[in-house]
Amino acid sequence: MFSFPIDYEQGWTLGNKINKYGIGLHTGSKCNVVIKPTELPGFHFSFSEDPNKVFSIDISQVRNTPLCTTLDLNGKKISTVEHLLASLIGVGVTHAHIEITGNEIPLLDGSAIGWVKEIEKVGMVNSTTSPKPRPELKAPIFVEKGESVIFAIPSNNLKLIGLIDFPYKAIGQQMFSIELSPHNFVEEIAPARTFGFLDQLEELKRAGLIKGGDLENALICNGDAWVNPPLRFPDEPVRHKLLDLIGDLACIGLPRAQIIVYKGSHSLHNEFAASLQKVLT
Ligand SMILES: [Zn+2]
Repeated sequence: MFSFPIDYEQGWTLGNKINKYGIGLHTGSKCNVVIKPTELPGFHFSFSEDPNKVFSIDISQVRNTPLCTTLDLNGKKISTVEHLLASLIGVGVTHAHIEITGNEIPLLDGSAIGWVKEIEKVGMVNSTTSPKPRPELKAPIFVEKGESVIFAIPSNNLKLIGLIDFPYKAIGQQMFSIELSPHNFVEEIAPARTFGFLDQLEELKRAGLIKGGDLENALICNGDAWVNPPLRFPDEPVRHKLLDLIGDLACIGLPRAQIIVYKGSHSLHNEFAASLQKVLT
């Protein structure tokens, strides 16, 4: 039976291709995603209408949008990439080619588990080419944005510590700490769903966002309680924040570091990835 790699030290690609269809949360548009094995290190995108034009992802393509991470691939945008990329990098895939029909990755149930199950079905094989080297820090770095802050401290163990603080009784203050490995990612992080707030839902819909959103692809909070329980973990929101962080690091790789993030957001994660890139170059 297939089991995920024990760590992030080797190069891995998929055993076979994955084909998945769904509706984009923000645009409400239909999207088909084909994830293929490749010998090219890193993560690469192409669009089905022009399959020979391949974009290798890097930090310069990342655009901050209010609710998700979007890649700008030479003017063509692809949004909500973070959970798919988190699934790939989280289970240890280092080489993958993602071909898209549409412009937004389907949200599935709001977590990474749907993608992880697809990867499990096709299995993973060692790549014949070496993976991109993981970022190494020479000294601690930190990035802050208002109240939000993220620290990375050089370490051989990849440890993530997330903290959130929401003025809603249902969430409040949560902390979650994990020594990241493919196994721990699959068990502790991948099932954690994205979350939103009932009072913001209508506002977002009016603003033309979350067109494809419903109670099936996010946990919805109405302040004191959850509209669509049960939760998969009592601290599911903070675990999801770490899922987003992992996805946002896919363009740079998982650093050899302990990372502490307080009130994380995609824009904070992306600035952090950009400062990791500076350390590397
Ligand atoms: Zn997310």
